[in-house]
Amino acid sequence: ITILAIESSCDETSASVCRDGVILSNVIATQAVHEQYGGVVPELASRAHMQNIVPVVDEALKKAGIEKTELSAVAFTQAPGLIGSLLVGAQFAKSLSLALDIPLIAVHHMQAHVLANLIPEEKPSFPFLCLTVSGGHTQIVLCESATQMKVLGETIDDAAGEAFDKTAKLLGLPYPGGPLIDKYAQLGNPDRFKFPEPQIPELNFSFSGLKTSILYFLRNAGTSLVYKEEFLASEEQQRQFIAENLNDICASVQQRIISILLNKLKKASQQTGIKQICLAGGVSANSGLRKAFTEMGEKYHWKTFIPSFEYCTDNAGMIAITGYHKFLANDFASLSVQPSARAEW
Ligand code: ATP
Ligand code: MG
Ligand code: FE
Repeated sequence: ITILAIESSCDETSASVCRDGVILSNVIATQAVHEQYGGVVPELASRAHMQNIVPVVDEALKKAGIEKTELSAVAFTQAPGLIGSLLVGAQFAKSLSLALDIPLIAVHHMQAHVLANLIPEEKPSFPFLCLTVSGGHTQIVLCESATQMKVLGETIDDAAGEAFDKTAKLLGLPYPGGPLIDKYAQLGNPDRFKFPEPQIPELNFSFSGLKTSILYFLRNAGTSLVYKEEFLASEEQQRQFIAENLNDICASVQQRIISILLNKLKKASQQTGIKQICLAGGVSANSGLRKAFTEMGEKYHWKTFIPSFEYCTDNAGMIAITGYHKFLANDFASLSVQPSARAEW
């Protein structure tokens, strides 16, 4: 079974070919155009997908050494994401399906992030738990089979990636700031500053309070986490405070984000009794999170899994592996299927 997969939910145009569950190619074109705006501009993203999609698909086929006529099906990201971006991938996949007379498979982007864990040779066994931490989502997912998943908990406001990116913005770092916080944090003292841990019920998360406390912390140049009628530091003092303490601030914020995530993951494992535990999503590239996750796994006798970096951030490889399992389950889409910005599970 040979699947061509297309991912275009946000600002990565990606195509992948997978044969019998083995990824043969995973080509990713990242759109640089958004950097200057400090975030993804939807209209520009759609246009860039239009420009990228033909060469990216061609390269994925070529790298895999596969002719179009050998394809068994074409899979694409149906939801969630930016609607203009999704439309480009969806229309392209439908056209290919029609032209080659092969079935179409619609893939849920967040389920695909989870199933990226089925790409390596050493895979988790079902049922497993997955902590998905990406730019737009933070979820604990119970994965019962490749086609049966349930969200046990998720963020009620910002995603973990947003917490990293918004913190970076407050610190004057360029977008996306997550990788930079990671870098500076490695040089800093995580116990230097104490940011609050929110008390959120069940297995849900919240990160917006952390952002506010960082904002107040900076406006008071580190002397207070609370809003006072007037903030204590001038803009110049804030800049100087950041410059002198950047590594420790990054390390302290990162440590708090990690403890918020892992405390809930620990709770999920205790509640379900499941000890096969995966990470997924772009934030799982964070070196502090990977280390703390692995250490927690050793402490609680979990078997832990983290996809390699290229399958953590947006990529079509994860769409291809999900498409492969949907193919095996005979789960095909009709040509009238529509992409959607939001998605039910
Ligand atoms: P979604 O899947 O929810 O729609 P997305 O696919 O756009 O979102 P990803 O590409 O999975 O998100 O992840 C991007 C996020 O990962 C960004 O917020 C980025 O800052 C963050 N990120 C990437 N590397 C690191 C790192 N080393 N440390 C912390 N955050 C990181
Ligand atoms: Mg991206
Ligand atoms: Fe994603």
